[in-house]
Amino acid sequence: MTKRRALVIGGGIAGTATAVALRHAGFDPVVHEAKERGADERGAFVTLAVNGVNALRSLGLDPARVLERGFPTPTIALRAASGRLLAEVPLGGPLPDGTTTVTIRRADLYASLRSQAKAHDVPIVYGGRLAGVVSGAGEVTAAFEDGRTDSADLLVGADGLHSRTREVLNPHAPAPHYLGLLNAGGFTAGPVAGPPAGVMQMAFGRRAFFGWASAPDGTVWWFANPPRKRPVAPGEFSPAAWRAHLLELFAGEPAGDLVAASDEILGPWNTRDLHRVRVWHDDRVVLVGDAAHAVAPSSGQGASMALEDAVVLGHCLLAQPELPAALAAYESARRPRVEKVVAYGRRSSNTKVLGPVGAAVRDAVLPVIMRRLHRRGDPQAWILEHRLPHLAASR
Ligand SMILES: Cc1cc2nc3c(=O)[nH]c(=O)nc-3n(C[C@H](O)[C@H](O)[C@H](O)COP(=O)(O)OP(=O)(O)OC[C@H]3O[C@@H](n4cnc5c(N)ncnc54)[C@H](O)[C@@H]3O)c2cc1C
Repeated sequence: MTKRRALVIGGGIAGTATAVALRHAGFDPVVHEAKERGADERGAFVTLAVNGVNALRSLGLDPARVLERGFPTPTIALRAASGRLLAEVPLGGPLPDGTTTVTIRRADLYASLRSQAKAHDVPIVYGGRLAGVVSGAGEVTAAFEDGRTDSADLLVGADGLHSRTREVLNPHAPAPHYLGLLNAGGFTAGPVAGPPAGVMQMAFGRRAFFGWASAPDGTVWWFANPPRKRPVAPGEFSPAAWRAHLLELFAGEPAGDLVAASDEILGPWNTRDLHRVRVWHDDRVVLVGDAAHAVAPSSGQGASMALEDAVVLGHCLLAQPELPAALAAYESARRPRVEKVVAYGRRSSNTKVLGPVGAAVRDAVLPVIMRRLHRRGDPQAWILEHRLPHLAASR
């Protein structure tokens, strides 16, 4: 029997992982990525929570190999602007093999997942940006901006937050929601005195939220969330103006020293999420990852949700040979969980910057609330302890 073909639009986290899942489900996938091969992946680093690490394993991948350039960060230390520790938050217990939540440069994660896709004989075609999709009775055809077309049995839209595939399925849907925060990130140019290994520090700075962690080479990786009423436009800040803005925001706080010790400051990026996408699929087209449900970065779950989507889609395609039924089963399995995670992420973004009175109240009550919550077990267990069955083994 000839294998069914699948087009995966987007070679990011969801796209590469879904291509591997499609192989396990008996498809012949090809990934079409808009950027040119080797294009620098913008973005600083990603913390892949332990449920996402487990999803890699469910795809038949070895997390230690995929994440080998990252380092474990199983705990968050939440601090007030003064540096006082407000709470320690575990990011899920380790998996049976000892792997845990890992922080890794975004470029390294993408490169690693792409090499895993290639190891599963998945071709990645670079430099083709999807422009349109025509879904017919016998096949689906993707049209790219450079004039090329490609046809297959199934098309997976893994084209991220500003997904063209989502627009095709939801022509009049609202754009992603801006959360009132910008994002910056960086790496100190060399080793500096940093916090203990294994703990992601996060501080409610006086004027902006800041996070930082020590890498094994002694450099410190950091991110910041300056508040801003309206989203930033491309080119609005020059690199020098962006650095100056951050130095001013963190003047007199330890975060300022880390910004000053970094050669390049990444960003600004707008922080957005996407709560309810009405249509996730038709009979031959389906959305995964940020294309279907973008969660706020502060949830630390976007990458994990993308990987979980890939595993669940693979299982549904294996269990149900009819595409429309398989895609409907995938949506039913994923929608309730991801929409709950998106709502959780939006709540955590809203507490990042408060006025002086709100901040004083927060710093006073947060330790008490966190102690009470954790006495009853880990309140994030429903996110972090989610485990999916092994896809490779179920063939
Ligand atoms: C600042 C920031 C920090 C974050 N930190 C974390 C974190 O610590 N932990 C975490 O879990 N999540 C984090 N996230 C969220 C996480 O990055 C996303 O949820 C994740 O990347 C989603 O994967 P994806 O594959 O769906 O989208 P992406 O990773 O964005 O990949 C989409 C791919 O599709 C390609 N593409 C786009 N349009 C087209 C087109 N028309 N045709 C072809 N290809 C196309 C893009 O070039 C890209 O390669 C963060 C997000 C931001 C913005």
